[in-house]
Amino acid sequence: MTSTMRAVQVSEINAPLRVVDLPQPSPGPGQVRIAVEACGVCRTDADMVQGLFGDEPFPLTPGHEIAGRIDMVGEDVEGWEIGERVAVGWFGGNDGRCEACREGDAINCEHLQVPGLAYPGGYAESVVVPTSALARIPGELSFVEAAPMGCAGVTVFNGLRRTSAQPGDLVAVLGVGGLGHLAVQFADKMGFDTAAIARGSDKEESARQLGARHYIDNAGQDVAQALQALGGAKVVMATVGAPAAMSAAIDGLRARGELVAIGVSPKKIEVSPMQLISGEKTLRGHASGTSQEVEETLRFAAQSGVRCISEVAPLQDAPQAFDNMVTGTVRFRGVLTPTGATALLRARRFGWAVRQRGHVQPVLVLVRGRADPGRPHRSGPVRLRKDAHPRQPRGPVRRGDRPGRRCAGQLPAGIRPPRPDQRRRQPRPGAVARVAATMSETGHAAVSRAIVI
Ligand SMILES: [Zn+2]
Ligand SMILES: [Zn+2]
Repeated sequence: MTSTMRAVQVSEINAPLRVVDLPQPSPGPGQVRIAVEACGVCRTDADMVQGLFGDEPFPLTPGHEIAGRIDMVGEDVEGWEIGERVAVGWFGGNDGRCEACREGDAINCEHLQVPGLAYPGGYAESVVVPTSALARIPGELSFVEAAPMGCAGVTVFNGLRRTSAQPGDLVAVLGVGGLGHLAVQFADKMGFDTAAIARGSDKEESARQLGARHYIDNAGQDVAQALQALGGAKVVMATVGAPAAMSAAIDGLRARGELVAIGVSPKKIEVSPMQLISGEKTLRGHASGTSQEVEETLRFAAQSGVRCISEVAPLQDAPQAFDNMVTGTVRFRGVLTPTGATALLRARRFGWAVRQRGHVQPVLVLVRGRADPGRPHRSGPVRLRKDAHPRQPRGPVRRGDRPGRRCAGQLPAGIRPPRPDQRRRQPRPGAVARVAATMSETGHAAVSRAIVI
């Protein structure tokens, strides 16, 4: 067993992220160690690095959207076994003693432990967490799919199911980014008449493919009028930290409607008592969810098909992935995979190709745009290309699996080929596509579906 691990460390407030070797941690009583397989890159990680939560956690290892396997258990741990697939989100443990905990409201614990703040987080090969932080990952979800559910996923899923909206009610999601693209999917799968609100018309197509029945461009339309034209929203879930946009949506609520703020901002939402009193409207905030609620979110995602669209990067590229998140280059969610495994998907003239750099669990990868907009696109099966890589898998090599050889149409056990209707949906020039790729331990690669979103 190695005694050191790779991990990101930030030495002080606003210091750059560095990937360093640190001693491998060991779990104490009531704790487990997780071999991290994936960790989401959340906006709040930047807040921690910028010192919004104080200077105590430094040197700091960010990361509170963790998914991996338990590889060591401490003393007095019951009910958790080595090898179990688990996720840890914003809720990284509670004290079990404070008034909120005794009332069964653990997410509002006075001593809530958040990975990255209370203890080193998931931008690392290993983390040690208390068992109260653990959520089981259903078999249908890969680690990359599960990780963002620990913060982004549970926040929107919980936020939606705690409202008074019933199936069929108009629910509007403000913003179609990391939180918003999940909120649109969850809202649709929960049976709400879902509207997406975002700036510009370029996000309309992807919002509709994620499940929005209505799209409102708040750069060109009066949001309140547009929502009232649809009958008024029972809920507006504000997923972006844009208080002015939240203020503009309040008059779009129907009677007893709710505006739920989950996008963080220190700036003020402007609303008059008159706006709230007329129609008895509610304006409130919503935090994340407990480990049990993360587990419920994961189960709902598994059963409904809600998936985070992730841009996967290896742990060694964490500083770049972090910068991409801060500068807004990442469309939905960045996810780190510590083994260095990543999948680069490229739009090719004849469809989609997977370039393999290491072996990974099933992934959803976002591909931006495509070259050759003037060329016609042929329909046909997805083609795969495997490139030589220093970390070539050691498993048995089968025909068609050798590095550098093309293999098409060979699917590992359990992976279904794309349905004919999906195969026909070729990406258009400039389209953003979601592709699910699966690579097994032996390096066998397959695209299980390719959906233009
Ligand atoms: Zn987060
Ligand atoms: Zn507590």
